[in-house]
Amino acid sequence: MKNFAYSRADTVEGAVSLLSQQANSKFLGGGTNLVDLMRENIEQPDVLIDVTRLSPGKIISELPDAGLSIGAAVRNSAVANHALVRERYPLLSQAILLGASGQIRNMATTGGNLMQRTRCYYFYDEASRCNKRTPGAGCDAIGGFNRIHAILGASESCIATHPSDMCVALAALDATVQVQGNAGPRSIPMNDFHRLPGDTPQIETDLKPDELITAIHLPPLAFATNSRYRKVRDRASYAFALVSVAAALETERGTIKNVRLALGGVAHKPWRAYAAEKAMVGAKATAETFRRAAEEELADARGRGHNDFKIELAKRTIVSVFRELAEAGGMR
Ligand SMILES: Cc1cc2nc3c(=O)[nH]c(=O)nc-3n(C[C@H](O)[C@H](O)[C@H](O)COP(=O)(O)OP(=O)(O)OC[C@H]3O[C@@H](n4cnc5c(N)ncnc54)[C@H](O)[C@@H]3O)c2cc1C
Ligand code: SF4
Repeated sequence: MKNFAYSRADTVEGAVSLLSQQANSKFLGGGTNLVDLMRENIEQPDVLIDVTRLSPGKIISELPDAGLSIGAAVRNSAVANHALVRERYPLLSQAILLGASGQIRNMATTGGNLMQRTRCYYFYDEASRCNKRTPGAGCDAIGGFNRIHAILGASESCIATHPSDMCVALAALDATVQVQGNAGPRSIPMNDFHRLPGDTPQIETDLKPDELITAIHLPPLAFATNSRYRKVRDRASYAFALVSVAAALETERGTIKNVRLALGGVAHKPWRAYAAEKAMVGAKATAETFRRAAEEELADARGRGHNDFKIELAKRTIVSVFRELAEAGGMR
């Protein structure tokens, strides 16, 4: 690992100013992804700006519209275990608790989780060709071992997936990412925050180079009390999702009134399943409806060989989660 300097930001303005002053600097959250990438020489910043002391006193607070604000420096464990998150947004608490390990969740921050990078094996292997690491180099995952790779929204430049569980729940909840840069604060809808790879897989988010994530806002969503996060993976713990489903359901006399669905492990970004949601609203809450909606969402899915199984796995997981939600409280 190459040498680097460390500085600590005590205010949001100070952090943004430090980033602008120092070429090749990076924010440091819990360091659970960034330090690994530095050890592998994939990230080589000259300066690390520690932002874990930001968001003082604003850990998790209620917004005037009855939503919640979560500071970017809040640790993943604190979010998952917060009473209001567990009560109002159970899928978010479940998603975080199904990620990583207790020790990592105690270190990892909300901002860092949003910005964590793909787990594509070839991205971490300097001997492999990777367009994300070296634009224009090629992609060894295409035609290589691609069991964990994308089935939706991929390109011929990159078939990597986004590894976060938390972000899948945030996509289903229509969260917004609050950021601050030299031009002032702005708010980015979660579903626009991460990008599909296209020809520029090295650009992963809509965050500008001078911007800091300051908070996540969760809008009020009454029916999110009937929600679930299901993660399907190779091991029962300490493994990333092959496919995950974040879902919420509200029914009235057996008919679907409101629904939210996002998928993880299938694309370069958390995949909000708008086509499936559209197919479900107004239909009867039956297994047939859930399967039809899943078929619509996955109609354009494409496997690359080793990951072909994900297409059927995603459909079955969607049906299974919605059947549980319909039984657990959606059937009103
Ligand atoms: C062994 C292992 C298993 C894991 N398993 C899972 C899993 O199953 N599911 C899952 O979702 N995650 C998993 N993770 C990932 C873990 O959740 C991330 O490493 C973590 O969320 C990153 O948070 P951090 O605060 O440590 O980020 P850091 O490593 O500190 O930073 C990551 C990136 O975010 C940037 N950053 C940090 N804060 C900000 C900010 N406020 N504004 C702008 N940029 C910022 C940094 O500059 C860096 O580029 C795993 C990690 C490990 C090591
Ligand atoms: S899938 Fe993306 S991250 Fe993986 S090797 Fe190809 S370009 Fe790199």
